[in-house]
Amino acid sequence: APAETPQVVIDAHGLPYLDAKLPLRKRVADLVSRMSLEEKAGQMTQAERGALTAQGDIATYDLGSLLSGGGSTPTPNTPAAWAKMIDAFQLRAQATRFQIPLIYGVDAVHGHNNLTGATIMPHNIGIGATRDPRLAERTGAVTASEVRATGIPWDFAPCLCVTRDERWGRSYESFGEDPALVKSMETIIQGLQGARSGKDLKDDDKVLATAKHFAGDGGTEYGSSTTGSYTIDQGITKVTREQLEAIHLSPYQTAVDRGIGSVMPSYSSLDILGDGQGPVKMHARADMINGVLKDRMGFDGFVISDWAAIDQIPGDYASDVRTSVNAGLDMIMVPYAYKDFRTTLIDEVKAGRISESRVNDAVSRILTQKFKLGLFEKPYADTSGAAAIGSPAHRAVAREAAAESQVLLKNTGGVLPLKKSQKVYVAGSNADDIGNQTGGWTVTWQGASGPVTQGTTILEGMRSAGGDVTYSKDASAPTSGYDVGVVVVGETPYAEGVGDVGNGNDLELTAADKEAVDKVCAAMKCAVLIVSGRPQLIGDRLAGIDALVASWLPGTEGDGVADVLYGKRAFTGQLPVTWPKSESQLPINVGDTSYDPQFPYGWGLTTLTKVPAGGTVTLKALALAAEAADRTGSAEAGRAAVTQARLLVQQKLGQTLTPTTTKPFANADHLLLTGHYASAIASLTEAYRAA
Ligand code: BGC
Repeated sequence: APAETPQVVIDAHGLPYLDAKLPLRKRVADLVSRMSLEEKAGQMTQAERGALTAQGDIATYDLGSLLSGGGSTPTPNTPAAWAKMIDAFQLRAQATRFQIPLIYGVDAVHGHNNLTGATIMPHNIGIGATRDPRLAERTGAVTASEVRATGIPWDFAPCLCVTRDERWGRSYESFGEDPALVKSMETIIQGLQGARSGKDLKDDDKVLATAKHFAGDGGTEYGSSTTGSYTIDQGITKVTREQLEAIHLSPYQTAVDRGIGSVMPSYSSLDILGDGQGPVKMHARADMINGVLKDRMGFDGFVISDWAAIDQIPGDYASDVRTSVNAGLDMIMVPYAYKDFRTTLIDEVKAGRISESRVNDAVSRILTQKFKLGLFEKPYADTSGAAAIGSPAHRAVAREAAAESQVLLKNTGGVLPLKKSQKVYVAGSNADDIGNQTGGWTVTWQGASGPVTQGTTILEGMRSAGGDVTYSKDASAPTSGYDVGVVVVGETPYAEGVGDVGNGNDLELTAADKEAVDKVCAAMKCAVLIVSGRPQLIGDRLAGIDALVASWLPGTEGDGVADVLYGKRAFTGQLPVTWPKSESQLPINVGDTSYDPQFPYGWGLTTLTKVPAGGTVTLKALALAAEAADRTGSAEAGRAAVTQARLLVQQKLGQTLTPTTTKPFANADHLLLTGHYASAIASLTEAYRAA
């Protein structure tokens, strides 16, 4: 530990709650029984670290938690400065009567993304494209170790949103449009937290995770926002009860089963069709938070509000506080209003409008996680893992994730993979830009274009892969002297709100991007990579493009993208969302009879060459293998059979997709993810016959 780490001697005075050998429940009950109402209200309060009028406020108001909102970073933005800053806050908390440690939280949604130099993973949409639960878990483990090594025990991730309309500006925070896909990626919770029991939380490389935003954030309706007519962020989710259960709630049961420590409700309102209530803000919904999450699903962690979200509940402040706490919120993120909130909460309890037992329950839930994290025994940063932040070993995991997340949508004439002997012309706005590659929630809240942190761009990755590369960002004067052009286009960073409003908040490529694609593809064989948080409309331009890749937001390791471009690894990614032809198709749903996208959900060509092994495997044989897998419950055998069948079908389908082939293909992926292997193969066989 650094020399400046303050040392506090825990003065137990024989108090039972400080005895680590006592059962957790006894420790919690003992501490809660000693606390005043004021201290309890403070535990339930979370302030933004930049909002503290004085550090002494931590003790004065008995604050239970602080956060760094996106981009709320210390200066300099180094691991040591983070640890020192948080230790200084913790020192204040240790000066309180019961020395209750603070729990500090950040949004580490794709690596320790507030910290310069950290390993930045692909955003969730890319992780969903990998279809690789073990890899998702490993990315979580790297994130947790980098976060905890800077003194932070709590992460507001993962987002379990099921994105249903990619005009939603937070689509890239989603693992995909299918709840089964989202559920399969929840292995990331084990990467972050360790064992389901929570026994690993006290380790120096684990953090408490937060499933967010409960529930229906990804289902908000276009045009229903409170902040503008064209955005759907923080809008209304209109669903039947069946849709709510199957699409938006089911990933939370998985999270609870995996031992998730905290849950954050959504800014959005929920309108359950036919229940006569109309839209009600999630933060005010006792039926959902108390009823579904805690009582029915059995969630025993604590519920943290979203940023100032209770202010959006209709009514005066006292009613906001009362309604949200009575709905089941345990800790409220009141970034600037921490004094007001605490006082109001105390008054509401004194007036009998919030029961003491509700407060005791909230505080017990919070303290339970603090005990599990080992904060009472070790309140200060353990920076022993700091040397590994941004290390080659961690970057290797991000590189693997970047490579596996690449989805090859088209590949006429086998343009990809590239050969080192080829002369390659690289162009486009996103070929050489770490900021655009990492997207929002990178160093700053919104992210930014340019060299925002350390890493390799796609261009740099191609060069270090040994490619013979000439680069021109704006594709000036491409000649046909080149063997192949690689044009990297897409979005610029954004977080929340309305998406990339500067680019019109639509799914169109910019005029400059279109021009670069057109110029290069007219002059030579070309591969187009789209670096973006969501599908971009490609339209008729597709005909003139030889190879098309959905690169998503691959993170700091452009080397991973180069790995698949140069064939060091095969393309294996599959679309986590349907790729529409036009915005008028949105929201688009595999279940619709009119389903006719540009590329179906689950699509993705592979450059694997050795499948099926020996060339003797037939769809019929694979169907038999899948039936056996269904009977014996062998997921591994089932997945292998379906993957091989998918490749057989893709070999026959080639580039030509028709409505009769896309839907069974997309359905197969849904069936695969829900463990119906024989049905998945039947669906693929249907696509094969129609091809
Ligand atoms: C976002 C959350 C985030 C919180 C804290 C909010 O604006 O909706 O996802 O965890 O800020 O930064």
